[in-house]
Amino acid sequence: MKVHLKTLGCRLNEAELETWAQAFQKSGHQITRQAEVANLIVINSCAVTQDAARKSRQLIRRTHRDNPQAKLIISGCYATLNHEEVAQQMGVDMIVSNKDKNRLVEKTLTELNMDAMPAMSTEPGEFSLFTRGRQRAFVKVQDGCRFRCTFCIVTVARGEEISRPVQAIIDEINTLHRQGLNEVILTGVHLGGYGSDLGNNLSGLIKAVLTQTHIPRLRLGSLEPWEFSEDFFELFLNPRLMPHLHLPLQSGSDSVLRRMARRCKTEEFAAIVSRLRWQIPHFNITTDIIAGFPGETEQEWQESFNFIKQTGFGHIHIFTYSRREGTKAATLPNQLSNDIKKQRSQQLHELANEMKMKFCRDNVGCEFPVLWEGYNEPYAVGKKLVFGYTPNYLRAGCVINADESIENLTLNCIITAAEENYVFAKISVPSLNANKPVHNPA
Ligand code: SF4
Repeated sequence: MKVHLKTLGCRLNEAELETWAQAFQKSGHQITRQAEVANLIVINSCAVTQDAARKSRQLIRRTHRDNPQAKLIISGCYATLNHEEVAQQMGVDMIVSNKDKNRLVEKTLTELNMDAMPAMSTEPGEFSLFTRGRQRAFVKVQDGCRFRCTFCIVTVARGEEISRPVQAIIDEINTLHRQGLNEVILTGVHLGGYGSDLGNNLSGLIKAVLTQTHIPRLRLGSLEPWEFSEDFFELFLNPRLMPHLHLPLQSGSDSVLRRMARRCKTEEFAAIVSRLRWQIPHFNITTDIIAGFPGETEQEWQESFNFIKQTGFGHIHIFTYSRREGTKAATLPNQLSNDIKKQRSQQLHELANEMKMKFCRDNVGCEFPVLWEGYNEPYAVGKKLVFGYTPNYLRAGCVINADESIENLTLNCIITAAEENYVFAKISVPSLNANKPVHNPA
């Protein structure tokens, strides 16, 4: 049968999609990018905000309307938190809540009698990620979170912390590498909590991956800025561990952080950042900030804005606070007006763009091994602009001949200029095993 997979939301949802894709293929079924030809469609939904829940509802409706014949499976946080509502939606054949996600493929094949469907031979090497146009894989290493940040619904939807055994993660990464992948991202709901239920920790896992696999590039997903073991920082001296961390700060005001029940003060955050930057030049720190958290006074906003400006970030995901039923913050007094929230979010976007451009400019002249991806844009007659990422997670663009491909190759490049949404890169060593030697227009 033909299976189509869709996801909304976080990288963990993306990682789960990859695990399901591989499991369906192992059972002899084919992954298709086209929902309209699929016999079975799985949606991994999201409920991190009211807006995300609305988008999940819309996606379910649209998917059923576009292919009413297909069996429709809904999983993820929206389905877990709104089971009844989803069950009443047109065309939904099965709901798999977060706690049963590991058994989604087995439940689908048995309970929906889908294993009677004819197995379709998958093309040799038709690796599902490439089938889905990806050059890196998110690898889920843990689920759940024991903390209770007051704005967060995820901890409610995903439950207690549970870590995958180290060997299972090693085996998955070795399989992905054998299938031609050069980069994996370790991801979880609370990645820093990895091993809390196994007597291990994230540093232990990273060391195991670096010694028991040959994956060239290892990245870490979003990581709460607390709980780092003493040996965590020196791990980045290994060039296979990418010098980029996404550390959600959420606010630069300590009194707001207290109302959020965050476990990190601004002083501690600043110490982590300076230690990483001191150790690895051009280390990229990106973050999440909530603008307009309940009760955020003008003074707290200024404190936050100044701390963010002083710290400097390669990129900021800005969330304008929106009330989320089921969270403590939704019940806090002094909810701000939309005008104030919008105004602060706008100010932060301007600052974030300035800081991003500064970080890009600071990397001009540097040489990095860039992992090139499949996505490209027309550039000039007979030329195309291809994209990839540097180790410190700068999006790089490079012009090559339209009939050439450097997809999934890692090539040394010099950063020559900073553009609005990427840095320009010049391949410094002609690629030996690309389809044809690459010439730069410079
Ligand atoms: S640590 Fe992260 S996942 Fe856990 S409650 Fe806080 S924001 Fe949510």
